[in-house]
Amino acid sequence: MHELMTELFPICRSITGDGMRQTFEILSSRLPLEITEVATGTPVLDWTVPREWNIRDAYVKDLSGRRVVDFRRSNLHVASYSVPVRARVRLAELKEHVFTLPEQPDVIPYRTTYYAERWAFCMSERQLASLRDAEYDVCIDSSLADGSLTYAEVLLPGIVPEEVLISAHACHPSLANDNLSGVVLATFLAKHLMSLRLRYSYRFLFAPGTIGSITWLARNERALQRIRHGLVVACVGDSGAFTYKRSRRGNSDVDRAVALALRESGEPHELVDFSPFGYDERQYCSPGFDLPVGCLSRTPHGRFPQYHNSADDLDFVAPREIARSLSMLLRVIDVLERDRRHQSLNPKGEPQLGRRGLYPSVGGGDAGTRQLALLWVMNLSDGGHSLMDIAERSRLPFDAVHRAALDLTEHDLLQVLPDEA
Ligand code: ZN
Repeated sequence: MHELMTELFPICRSITGDGMRQTFEILSSRLPLEITEVATGTPVLDWTVPREWNIRDAYVKDLSGRRVVDFRRSNLHVASYSVPVRARVRLAELKEHVFTLPEQPDVIPYRTTYYAERWAFCMSERQLASLRDAEYDVCIDSSLADGSLTYAEVLLPGIVPEEVLISAHACHPSLANDNLSGVVLATFLAKHLMSLRLRYSYRFLFAPGTIGSITWLARNERALQRIRHGLVVACVGDSGAFTYKRSRRGNSDVDRAVALALRESGEPHELVDFSPFGYDERQYCSPGFDLPVGCLSRTPHGRFPQYHNSADDLDFVAPREIARSLSMLLRVIDVLERDRRHQSLNPKGEPQLGRRGLYPSVGGGDAGTRQLALLWVMNLSDGGHSLMDIAERSRLPFDAVHRAALDLTEHDLLQVLPDEA
């Protein structure tokens, strides 16, 4: 995952343009991606697909011709969606077009000007302080023209057509944790799931933040009822504790599956309620859709000093940490895949488990996890409770509850109910 991230890192992505296409081309060598282009001007919900932005080069040169700010050194130096400019400007005027982060004087901030016609450079506070000449030549060789917005998806068909949506935003330039960690995690998760026989169908969506998910929602409105569970993955490569933001519904199965997976992993974590701020869960959980989609992160956006600046680089994201995040997602999927409802075929009194070899023949000791799981599953399998319900109520590991259900089914004491996925 870190290697793929290293390959994707230098590309200048934005919400539209060739950086996004190049990113999807690289992902296409690993996944059978279906790529969609939506033309500039297309109305999507309350928005309109914007003009396409591309950039070839940009610099601030002193009058001796030396590049004192160079886009080729960092694509963060130009605010995304800057309109083209080529001019000789006085330092005071240049400063009106510069973003810095005074409180972190060595880093270049990441800024965008998506829906305003302007141009701006981003640089470190130290770099700005070093500009002392009276005049500079500035150039942003960009274009803002009719074109299209690009998103990519892959559907892995399962036994049932109901889908699990995994969504990652892919619109940031050279930023590793915010954007690329989610992209590479989703890519490797998809690759892994492709080798498995799955109950649910899995849809992976890679799109620009906000406008991308809005465009996708607008074009897929009729298919949304197939989405049973969903997760936005973002900022999953730092070493912070896991953070899960619940869906707007607050108690959907995916919320509960993530909570169980986090609890059972023993990993430090925090569960937070939905808020209409963050990543694309804002769109999926808007009231007209209200999809069961939560957001899994490590340290949430905006709460690490490297957020949206040049310190969010390849060193900030550790291979081991993205791997831990991938393991956590696999745990969540494992719970969703195995969660079923059962009907007891022996609801009157407890069945005699010992006779069936399911209970220890020596009594008197404490009941172990396995015995408790058998009793809880027999008791709550009235058709109304799922295995997740039973794991939550009994505080037993989901795995033990699932194992007990398999054994009881094998002994004709339980019957699995038809897949209502
Ligand atoms: Zn971001």
